[in-house]
Amino acid sequence: MSDRSRPGEKGSQPPRPPAGGGGAKLLLSRLRALMANQAQDPKRLDRVVELIANTMVADVCSIYLRSEDESLLLMATRGLRPEAVGRTRMKENEGLVGLVSTTARPLRLTDAFSHPRFSYRPETGEDPFHSFLGVPILRGGRVLGVLVVQNRTERAYDDEEAEALQTVAMVLAELVAAAADTLSAGLRQTRPVEMTGRTLNEGLATGRVHLYDPVVPPTQLFAADVEEEERRLNEALDALRASIDAMLTRAGPVLFGESRDVLETYRLFAHDPSWEARLVEAVRTGLSAAAAVDRVRREHRARLESARDAMVRERMHDLEDLENRLLRQLSGDNGGREAPPGSILVASRIGPAELLEYRDSGLAGIVLEEAGAGSHAAIVARAIGVPAIGALPGLVTRAEDGDLMIVDGEAGVIHIRPGAEIVTNFHARMALSEQKQAELSLLRDKPAITTDGVEIDLFINAGLSFDLDHLDEVGAKGVGLFRTEFQFMASETMPGLDEQSTFYKSVIERAGDRPVVFRTIDLGGDKIAPFMGRREREENPALGWRALRMALDHPFFFRRQLRALIRASRGKTLRLMFPMVTTVEEFEAARRLLDSEMEWAIKFGRDLPNKLQVGAMVETPSLAFSIDSLKGKADFLSIGTNDLMQFFFAADRDNARLSGRYDILSRAAMRLLLRMRQRADEAELPVTVCGEAAGRPIEALALIALGYRRLSMQSARIAPIKLLVRSVDLSNMAPRVQAALDAGEQSVRKTLLGIADDFGVKI
Ligand code: PEP
Ligand code: MG
Repeated sequence: MSDRSRPGEKGSQPPRPPAGGGGAKLLLSRLRALMANQAQDPKRLDRVVELIANTMVADVCSIYLRSEDESLLLMATRGLRPEAVGRTRMKENEGLVGLVSTTARPLRLTDAFSHPRFSYRPETGEDPFHSFLGVPILRGGRVLGVLVVQNRTERAYDDEEAEALQTVAMVLAELVAAAADTLSAGLRQTRPVEMTGRTLNEGLATGRVHLYDPVVPPTQLFAADVEEEERRLNEALDALRASIDAMLTRAGPVLFGESRDVLETYRLFAHDPSWEARLVEAVRTGLSAAAAVDRVRREHRARLESARDAMVRERMHDLEDLENRLLRQLSGDNGGREAPPGSILVASRIGPAELLEYRDSGLAGIVLEEAGAGSHAAIVARAIGVPAIGALPGLVTRAEDGDLMIVDGEAGVIHIRPGAEIVTNFHARMALSEQKQAELSLLRDKPAITTDGVEIDLFINAGLSFDLDHLDEVGAKGVGLFRTEFQFMASETMPGLDEQSTFYKSVIERAGDRPVVFRTIDLGGDKIAPFMGRREREENPALGWRALRMALDHPFFFRRQLRALIRASRGKTLRLMFPMVTTVEEFEAARRLLDSEMEWAIKFGRDLPNKLQVGAMVETPSLAFSIDSLKGKADFLSIGTNDLMQFFFAADRDNARLSGRYDILSRAAMRLLLRMRQRADEAELPVTVCGEAAGRPIEALALIALGYRRLSMQSARIAPIKLLVRSVDLSNMAPRVQAALDAGEQSVRKTLLGIADDFGVKI
């Protein structure tokens, strides 16, 4: 390190490394030799910078590694002052090194001084260095540090040099990760982190982090035989393309005009010559096929982490997915996934099918960076039945495999590497909660009857067939809302008639004697199925072309679902309802399609239900004011308070800034709900409430006070709501709520809290 010879004086052009892919190749082969000989050498970072500086004929080569507080610490240098090692620390957003780190992209400059982000650090003695080439050291989408070369001259580093340095950075990432303890105490994160996201499924859990997509370092970094590795890569690419082509063929006539787009785009990417060229190029530098794919994947992963633009993110996701598949091909992975029992699955984003693969792993919790409450991952997390939290930006860069994690699904908070005190308190809470659960489970076979003898029918909301297992566990009357779109969202291709009807049949069978209300597909808006393709982005998807609107515009596909439901209900009562009905005419149009499907089945002697019950979901204010007109047309109603309230208050249900701002217990909403119940009674239409409000204690009390007698909710909410119902006297409660409304109180929340208190109900 004391050798600070600086080849090349200012103004003179230093000799270049060999061209034609040779730069990276030469660097790699030297690095390989160095790693083979000095695997345990504590000074190997020093040797690496020396090797790079010599091979690239650079005046400076430095390695900065990210530490606990996100700052970048100079860990090794050739060319800067040795005293600066271990002392010079750049803040995350400081200087050019910080810029490389935050953007996770290489940076090339001929004159670093003139860059606005240049930050002068006198202790390093870097005054004379004009040109700068910095690349991120990436692992698992995380920037571990930055590798920099500098020259005195205003030299333009070419593409090849940048490539070579990135390849070296990848090898370096493995080296650094493997020696995390000896190289830098701060590399393995130890600091406790608390993050607040959004609860996807309630409950409390602790466990060790199991990263969904951990960096599986290629077992072999370097190619023993470059030609052989290139052949392996080509083989894997061919197999990948063939599998995508097969998917496209299987898709057959799929839903909606643009439906094939997503697969076609996927195929385009898979056949993209520039992608292939990048992979081949990486192999030719001397990397193994898997390491080459990994090298390109890291780049996309890191760009994905830093990209804001939705289109860019989507493209990066696609490429990353492809690269993951390719890596699996190369490693002969058969795709089966499991995590150690009791672990917390941590993922940036995960598809529903992948999440389902963990169903039998005995996970303790699921924590996701991207998922919102309505996402498909959230639906599966609920069905798996473990506490889950989503919407946690930056999660995967903070949690590491094996870290202890607390998942507080009541507060929507996670603790990564919590301190002892937090752990002790949390365990106490868990013990209390388990005790409460045990008490609640005793209610399973008891009816939900108020102390003055009014029975409230409690149903579960479901979306997967194994959700039905909860029916017995919690003692519910049946399924008040079966969200059929989930089968579509989890499927790469449009499910066919047989597939749909087999699925519905399995649901009906699992429910036994209990009724199941199927809701026809509620796609569109933010619920997108993979085969729908990238549709034109709508300005206001929640108010857009979705649910029944979309279904009515595609009668062919809609009728296929109706036919499947009819077939699946042979000899039983088919209960189905349409989502997002806005006008009575829409309901009638949907019903006509159903009738013609029934006529078709009768005419051709097909399987038939023995009875049909057709309902309308009331989710728009417009239909809320048309209930009287549905008399004699619909058989029942179901109020989707999630959507109804978002339209009533003009407040996006998924907008975190608005959550909690408007209250269903406000006078305005209560009056609407009261009026709806009265109109439904007048029209002799049984009515259920199936939005989230039905499963929240105070809100459920309010609904019961307004006269609702049928509530449908997540299965985990049944027992607490049953306990609540069994504790209150309706003849006392209802007049008090009515009096509060009559007195003009702006919210009945306080009144209801008082009522709950009087009846000794813990909220
Ligand atoms: C609702 O809107 O309240 C509802 C139950 O439907 P979803 O949440 O599936 O839109
Ligand atoms: Mg809805």
